[in-house]
Amino acid sequence: MKIGFIGLGRMGKHMATNVVKAGFETYVNDLVPALVEQLTELGAKSCATNQELAAAVDVAFTMLPNGAIVESVMCGPEGVLAACKPGTIIVDMSSVAPATTQKMAEIAAKNGVKYIDAPVSGGTAGAEAGTLTIMVGAEKETFEKVKPVLEAIGKRIYHIGGVGMGDAMKIVNNMLLGANMASLAEALVLGAKCGLSPDTMYDIISTSSGNSYALTAKMKKFIMADAYEPGFAMDVQYKDLTLAQEASRTTRTPIPMTNTCISIFEQARAAGHGGEDMSAVIKIWEDLTGAKITGTGK
Ligand code: NAD
Repeated sequence: MKIGFIGLGRMGKHMATNVVKAGFETYVNDLVPALVEQLTELGAKSCATNQELAAAVDVAFTMLPNGAIVESVMCGPEGVLAACKPGTIIVDMSSVAPATTQKMAEIAAKNGVKYIDAPVSGGTAGAEAGTLTIMVGAEKETFEKVKPVLEAIGKRIYHIGGVGMGDAMKIVNNMLLGANMASLAEALVLGAKCGLSPDTMYDIISTSSGNSYALTAKMKKFIMADAYEPGFAMDVQYKDLTLAQEASRTTRTPIPMTNTCISIFEQARAAGHGGEDMSAVIKIWEDLTGAKITGTGK
């Protein structure tokens, strides 16, 4: 089985690396030549265009920033779908709206191509370690065909339901990540203003009912270290919250907590933190109050 991987950014470069290391013949492409070179040094074959890649492989994976970019990579005369052989499977692992995936799947089906969603959770650390959680939306038969490759990328692989259901699951998860991060930020700053040390707060919360991934993954490594190189960029988290907003409109489901969260991330982006890790949202409260959540992070 020949594998293609388009999008070798913060996540994709590690995921593609694990596919190569698992022994799959892998073809890669990205707009950034240096990222392609990193993969070819490990044994992947580089392609000059996404269409060249699409024509060469049996299964093409994409890990792209957002739905608009996924659509532009897939559609049109220069698009992946126009170049795929019938029988090709496309696995989009980006975080996008279920409607985007379902629209791509409809277009793909006209060319005899299967298009499925398999977004992930676990961050860059999980991508590097090959321990991502993968949420797949696909017919069972297509899921079974790509599962051996997914096993090189992730540890917990769930077949959630039909096409688009992986995306829906990912939206729900990332609503919670965004809300947990924003709540953690305001709680830590309140604690600091009350006189608690960051180390004490970490030790107690991490073993108490307020614990969260936002705390364990973000407090020491990013916030206390005052090091906000992403990681998971705030702009990308914001995009995921807007996907929840889109789903709330189409399903007529109120999401007031998430709407508040969106407005907090909007403030942080307006203050220039969009390219930093999403944990930089704490700077909103630090700048307002003068408190600083810092420490050795040990
Ligand atoms: P990124 O911006 O680091 O990587 C995206 C890559 O796509 C870039 O290298 C870019 O050059 C490439 N690209 C863009 N347009 C292209 C095109 N036309 N052809 C080929 N390559 C193209 O983003 P990321 O952080 O790796 O995130 C990718 C996706 O994964 C997003 O949808 C994000 O929501 C999701 N995600 C990210 C994380 C995380 O921790 N970073 C975790 C889970 C899910």
